[in-house]
Amino acid sequence: MELKKNQYTIGGIPVIALAEKHRSPLYIYDTDGMISQYRRITDSFSGTRVKINYACKALTNINVLKLFCGLGSGLDAVSVQEVELGLMAGFAPQDILYTPNCVSIEEIVEAVELGVRINIDNIAILEEFGVKYGAKVPVCVRINPHVMGGGNNKISTGHIDSKFGISIYQMPHVHRIVETNHMKVEGIHMHTGSDILDMQTFLRASEVMFETAMEFKELDYVDFGSGFKVPYRADDVSTDVEALGIELSERFNRFCKEYGKELTLVFEPGKFLVSEAGYFVARVNVIKQTTSTVFAGLDTGLNHFIRPMFYEAYHEIVNVSKPRGKTRIYTVVGYICETDTFGWNRKISEATEGDYLLFKNAGAYCYAMASNYNSRFRPAEVLVHKGKDHLIRKREDMEDLLRNQIELEDL
Ligand SMILES: *Cc1c(COP(=O)(O)O)cnc(C)c1O
Repeated sequence: MELKKNQYTIGGIPVIALAEKHRSPLYIYDTDGMISQYRRITDSFSGTRVKINYACKALTNINVLKLFCGLGSGLDAVSVQEVELGLMAGFAPQDILYTPNCVSIEEIVEAVELGVRINIDNIAILEEFGVKYGAKVPVCVRINPHVMGGGNNKISTGHIDSKFGISIYQMPHVHRIVETNHMKVEGIHMHTGSDILDMQTFLRASEVMFETAMEFKELDYVDFGSGFKVPYRADDVSTDVEALGIELSERFNRFCKEYGKELTLVFEPGKFLVSEAGYFVARVNVIKQTTSTVFAGLDTGLNHFIRPMFYEAYHEIVNVSKPRGKTRIYTVVGYICETDTFGWNRKISEATEGDYLLFKNAGAYCYAMASNYNSRFRPAEVLVHKGKDHLIRKREDMEDLLRNQIELEDL
């Protein structure tokens, strides 16, 4: 987003014009932002054979999937429905890695039948899979290296109590299952959480992966998951991808020599690719002064944008209607009949009813988590691509609320 001639613009288009044309509330995504983040990783790892699988649970609009497919990305899918969306968007089955957690063997069988790569994250399923497919279908094994990433308890997955992955202490059992059933393990995978602030922690986890990898003789790739952090505030630290690229590429290439084969280094970022390229715009319905607080009440709520309430996520808020106004302190809230506070005590340029407020970092896990709570419609999504705005999802209407409901005759 840029401030040009007293107007905030996204991909060159004034935000106010987008909000007026497509109405509020509205999600806006900028393809340039997604492409440049994708290139940042591929450029940083240009010295090694790197593959990016976009973790699409962050934002699954089919156009976003097509964009990444066109860039040469693969896909990380966590449900069989995401697999199907990926196939519809044009990803080749071998470019999709299905990484489920606690799903039934039936769902895994469905994914096998769709021809995609399978990542298995528990011993019982690995054994069932081995008995069923033996050497016929290769697998990836999701490992928990027990190295604590950063982030809060809700998003960290590498700790000892985590439900994700197979513990490195269970590797002897894994090898027993693999050998007995003549399975081919084509990849090993880790995804230790969502906030790698400290590169050394990440590199330590990588060492565990390399050690583990030496014991599997038929690998094609090592998947380091995600953990790329993006800045939410002006002074936030984020993952230094360029520095990571230098260190890890060198280490990975050295590992490949030792291993005796050129493997592919895989990453599966979600947030890093789409968070900052997304914005959410909502209108101020009321300014409400109480005895202690000035509230800005918006035409949206936790039904459209739940991260602040769900994860205590911080999203910067800007009054795009008053780019240079003097600032006041607001507590920004939604219209849902529950406490849905987007931000406490935010310094925002003085707002009046009808102003548009814009939330930053709204590309990842925002629309994807929207619901119909309070029987509200989910908002529209707009993609700004090559200087033009495209409606890529309509706002819902009454028909959407009633779809799949079955009205009984005798009530
Ligand atoms: C969610 C998820 C990701 C992406 O995480 P981000 O923090 O959005 O980058 C990657 N891999 C797996 C297995 C995931 O479940």
